[in-house]
Amino acid sequence: MEPVDRSTIWPYDERGEPGRFYYSRYDHPSGVAAETELGRREDGNALLYASGMGAAMTVLLAFGRPGMTVALAECCYYGTSKLLGLLDSWDISYVEYDQTGPAPDADIVWVEAPANPVLTMPNWESLRGHAGLVVCDATVATPVYLCSLDEGADVVLHSATKYLTGSHNALLGATVTRDPQRSARLREFRGTAGIVSAPDAAAALVRGLDTLDARMARHTETATELARRLEAHPAVSTVRYPGFSGLISFDVEDPRAVETSTKLILNATSLGGARSTMESRHRWEGDRIPAGLLRLSVGLEDVDELWADLKQAIGLETYLLNL
Ligand code: PLP
Repeated sequence: MEPVDRSTIWPYDERGEPGRFYYSRYDHPSGVAAETELGRREDGNALLYASGMGAAMTVLLAFGRPGMTVALAECCYYGTSKLLGLLDSWDISYVEYDQTGPAPDADIVWVEAPANPVLTMPNWESLRGHAGLVVCDATVATPVYLCSLDEGADVVLHSATKYLTGSHNALLGATVTRDPQRSARLREFRGTAGIVSAPDAAAALVRGLDTLDARMARHTETATELARRLEAHPAVSTVRYPGFSGLISFDVEDPRAVETSTKLILNATSLGGARSTMESRHRWEGDRIPAGLLRLSVGLEDVDELWADLKQAIGLETYLLNL
């Protein structure tokens, strides 16, 4: 590994001309190394940002304008709908729609593959050739399971905070596009507004991409088995799992009691790390999602240990034994 260069400045050359790197708000070596690798995986031009939401904000700054409408996948990541709600004062409005069906007319269609936490997938058929800009947040699918640029997205967005870095220790966002003009506009807004990645987070992405395939295969294998076991559990009413990646959501009677009873699975927010996390999303999202919904991000632990932890936390056996 190259050592992480945390410089903010690099001297000009002997003629007084800036070299490849001169001020880290525009580019830095770890950022460029990570962008090169992510761009190679997505076959496009990757740019990193301070966070996933930083990437989302830059997309809206670069391609939004007053009076426009965004069609947003229903029950996708809560923060995206919150951000769009805040942009009401900039005269940008949004409507939520069922992304499994036809996409409505809109200046931007913002889908999520799969939507966090309801885990629906976009209807690509209705998005190909859509007149608006199609943005796909592919944080949960990762490039391992989806190349949304091939499916018809114009811009793919990742919260690299999740699977791409994979250790709950880096806050980072990314976009990838194949259109040089769009890339240039995103880059211009990113650098000028300063919505940029930290060198250490970018270096974490370089390392994360090295192990991404193996980690995602393991997340999928364990989550597939846990989803199957949850389906058969009498105290679990609905299990949502798209068949790949590590995110499952399921409904129980008392989600707070379950989330605070696990020992191996951290009762914490976020997803995509080696360590499993679980939380009731109702605390953040209110009635937007089912009140009993628990979002489980399946990590890289042993499947039987995870199941033992879940089972004791859901606790129906203990309940029945005590009747
Ligand atoms: N997109 C999705 C699907 C997410 O789950 C999240 C965060 O949970 C984000 C975007 C925002 O990413 P970040 O927390 O890195 O800003």
